Amino acid sequence: MKLVVFDELQVGVLGGDETVVELSDLVSEAAPPDRMTALISAWEKVGDRVAERSRDGGGRPLSEVTLRAPQPSPATKVVAAPVNYRRHQEEMGGSGGVYKDLSIETIETYAGFIKATSSIVGPDEAIELPPGDRRVDHEAELGVVIGRTARNVSQEDALDFVFGYLPLLDITVRGKEDRSFRKSFDTFTPIGPAIVSADEVPDPEAVDFSLTVNGEPRQQANTRDLIFGVAKLIELYSAAMTLMPGDLIATGTPEGVGPIVAGDQVVLEIDGVGRLTMPVRASKEALA
Ligand code: MN
Repeated sequence: MKLVVFDELQVGVLGGDETVVELSDLVSEAAPPDRMTALISAWEKVGDRVAERSRDGGGRPLSEVTLRAPQPSPATKVVAAPVNYRRHQEEMGGSGGVYKDLSIETIETYAGFIKATSSIVGPDEAIELPPGDRRVDHEAELGVVIGRTARNVSQEDALDFVFGYLPLLDITVRGKEDRSFRKSFDTFTPIGPAIVSADEVPDPEAVDFSLTVNGEPRQQANTRDLIFGVAKLIELYSAAMTLMPGDLIATGTPEGVGPIVAGDQVVLEIDGVGRLTMPVRASKEALA
């Protein structure tokens, strides 16, 4: 199933007839930004009804709704994996690296960082560059949506705690500040257009994905090249912090990261998970 948030933060499911069927009544007690979290939390009770509505269809034509970030407000966090592909490690450090001559370690050393949930945007918005001329890079990533409260989960059981997957961009300004600062600017976590339920992604550790800028290929990889795969990430993070329904994990980016500038169009396509298109624009401050 493909779960979406649309228009005035209503929650919906994509019908077999390419319509968006509203589900907001199933989580009527939740504030609009929290509806997706409420839907995921209530899934054991409402999942069958959602599947039924998806089969029945009869909602509003997809072309007539505005799709927003499919999880606009994770309950507690976006956890992200730093340097989780070997060839990305190679391009970041050393003599030709983005961080010239710095020694860049991998996730085995850095483990993780937190992105502010306020950095989340959907396909109805744009990546907004901060004022000034600092380098801002795209990072193509498979995003994981947690489905059940996870604490001290083993790698073997980890995928049972996943609700679904989505395309995620971990936009980053390069520099010496802490990762959590550089990757938490407003608009720096585009996600969407939908959450694809886990049953439709049989092996999240063997998924092809690619990213283009203005049609030019920049990143192409498969999640089998992750240093820590999806299950291992859930084990690692849930050993430190409780993962809540609706929380997100950014799994890390492969080689090919590069700068984006105002006017660019970034397209991230993940096989079986979706295609996210994001324009890039200068910050409002820079234009003022
Ligand atoms: Mn990243």
